[in-house]
Amino acid sequence: MSGPDASAAAVGRVIVIGAGIIGAACAAWLAREGRQVVVIDRAGPGEGASFGNAGNIGPGNVLPNAAPGTLRQIPKWVLDPLGPLAIRWRYLPRALPWLLRWIRAGRPEQAAAVSRGLAILHRPSFEHYDPILTASGGDALVRRVGQLFISASAQGAAGTAFAQRMRAEAGVPTEILDADLLRQKEPALARHYQSALYFPEHGHCVDPGGLARTLVEFALRNGSTLVRAEVLELVVEAGAVAGVRLAGGEVVRGGRVVVAAGAWSHRLLAPLGLRLPLEAERGYHVVLPDPGVMPRHPISNRDRAVAATPMADGLRLAGTVEIAGVDAPPDWRRADMLLPHAAEMFPGVNLAGAKRWMGSRPSLPDGLPALGPCPGHPNVLLACGNGHFGLTAAGTMGRVVADLVAGRPPVIELAPFSPMRFG
Ligand SMILES: Cc1cc2nc3c(=O)[nH]c(=O)nc-3n(C[C@H](O)[C@H](O)[C@H](O)COP(=O)(O)OP(=O)(O)OC[C@H]3O[C@@H](n4cnc5c(N)ncnc54)[C@H](O)[C@@H]3O)c2cc1C
Repeated sequence: MSGPDASAAAVGRVIVIGAGIIGAACAAWLAREGRQVVVIDRAGPGEGASFGNAGNIGPGNVLPNAAPGTLRQIPKWVLDPLGPLAIRWRYLPRALPWLLRWIRAGRPEQAAAVSRGLAILHRPSFEHYDPILTASGGDALVRRVGQLFISASAQGAAGTAFAQRMRAEAGVPTEILDADLLRQKEPALARHYQSALYFPEHGHCVDPGGLARTLVEFALRNGSTLVRAEVLELVVEAGAVAGVRLAGGEVVRGGRVVVAAGAWSHRLLAPLGLRLPLEAERGYHVVLPDPGVMPRHPISNRDRAVAATPMADGLRLAGTVEIAGVDAPPDWRRADMLLPHAAEMFPGVNLAGAKRWMGSRPSLPDGLPALGPCPGHPNVLLACGNGHFGLTAAGTMGRVVADLVAGRPPVIELAPFSPMRFG
């Protein structure tokens, strides 16, 4: 694909860097519209953050992590070595600018604006998965059974006044369940949980890595190519991006480049002059292959900031945020700390054979992604930085990228996701 290939075919080609759920959805939407797509990933499809998430797809995910109420809890969390948030102190000087921006984004007015952005992006989440999943025979990967937020306190599940206001403003349907109703809905749960918030319109994926693979396979069946290689850099010729250089030196030329490289995206963009403040919010999971009990719904434990999701390969407990940089080795104690939470939530659960995983949420400080053309390089499209909600947003991210490549007005308003909003 190098050298003499600087032809009309190369100009029509769209290169997608990253085959996580975001790149996979972009490739699928582009291929569905007949674009010639080359997807490039150094690993297999869906092997980054998209492999190990909690699987929730929530059109009603409208609460940023940095929000009034959350910020007050930070000192308590950080001082507890096994709390839901850990910062490796050696990494603190590098993370500090991001953390300060994150705190600023949590002020009431800013958080409310972010919440509105999340609502715009997440509301049509199923609408933009459905056509691709149906066409690829992947419907069974997603179950639309709703989601439960639970708490051991009578008021805990509903969350802060801010959370309730943002959900009401976005028109997110919810039902409040008392302890009895919760027990009827979810008999496997321990009896000390006193309240739940039920999201009837939410769903979950039973194999998130498999979902990314399914979307990439759909793109391949529709004429795309998958290249397994590391992208070293974007190639600039006469002031414009003309393709990408792979490790090994080969150049793949293309008229458009979509940067969907998850927590590594900023490294590719910096030479273009875009300083995207992307940080890895590392998360962990354990999968219990033979749990003996299985919840009917995906459950978010609001007291512990831990999710429990029924998956095809077992019961998955996922969560925790660790700020340590994208390259640091995992601290497996953060996965192991999920096991006592499983035992607390599901009496009698079998913890044997737990499989551990760590991955990097690609997070911008305000919790919204960067979606749209790169400043100064209109043929480079950004689709990255979805933080805690990339699985929810992917279908819509893919649809927007297909709209932009086609020259159509994007299906959602893009102002909240401007790559330039950090100055
Ligand atoms: C514990 C945990 C729980 C979560 N739970 C949920 C949830 O319930 N619901 C939800 O909506 N979201 C959830 N998320 C968030 C979600 O998983 C992420 O937002 C999403 O996976 C990000 O997808 P991505 O495609 O941007 O990144 P990734 O999946 O990380 O993909 C990026 C890809 O780019 C490739 N790449 C990077 N740089 C290069 C390069 N230079 N050359 C070649 N390839 C490159 C990588 O190999 C990788 O495959 C969770 C995340 C975690 C960690």
